[in-house]
Amino acid sequence: MAIAVVVLAVLLTVTPASTGTASARPGPGPLLTASMADDERTAVAAVDGFWKRHFTEFFDKPYTSPTVRGGYTGSSGPSCGGSRAQPLNAYYCPPGDFLAWDENLMSAGYQKVGNAWVYLIIAHEWGHAIQARLSKRLVSQADELQADCLAGAELSGAVRDGVIRMEPGDSQALSDTLRVLADDTPWTNGRDHGDAQQRTSAFNKGAQGGVRACI
Ligand SMILES: [Zn+2]
Repeated sequence: MAIAVVVLAVLLTVTPASTGTASARPGPGPLLTASMADDERTAVAAVDGFWKRHFTEFFDKPYTSPTVRGGYTGSSGPSCGGSRAQPLNAYYCPPGDFLAWDENLMSAGYQKVGNAWVYLIIAHEWGHAIQARLSKRLVSQADELQADCLAGAELSGAVRDGVIRMEPGDSQALSDTLRVLADDTPWTNGRDHGDAQQRTSAFNKGAQGGVRACI
């Protein structure tokens, strides 16, 4: 178990532990490949499954899953509390209790860093959904870094549960990608999300210390 967590801290290639995802539906366009769609579904199932199994170990209430509104392109995403979706963003919408992401943001990181990117984005936004379920005193002021920490805890927990596997690769790739994309996308804006090093370090804190290290 410890090995899996340490490997995860160097976040790399993610593969579903089961091979039951061969019947990938074709994506709506060239931008969403079948394998990326597969990774999105696997990430959602892994993270949601982690909280279904473990939420009550940490918090004194039952778990409810947020809604996944999934991928959009450009500005076609679901509006949130009267605000329109932004291109190249991924977000959790508290009033609607849903997650959404621009497939262009997914594919930008997917091409640079591989599928770990998709897992990071979905797990991070899920982290915001978890924050919305907690009393305010448990939500860090640095709520973006706390969401990265929860992302690490969710994914390492899913690894420990045998739902996904992580394999070694280039540990620098994820933080490099965050840095590269920081100038281009709202999702990686360093002013509100922290810089690439802070984000990687927050992720690793959760991956190594679990949920309790984040709250
Ligand atoms: Zn965030």
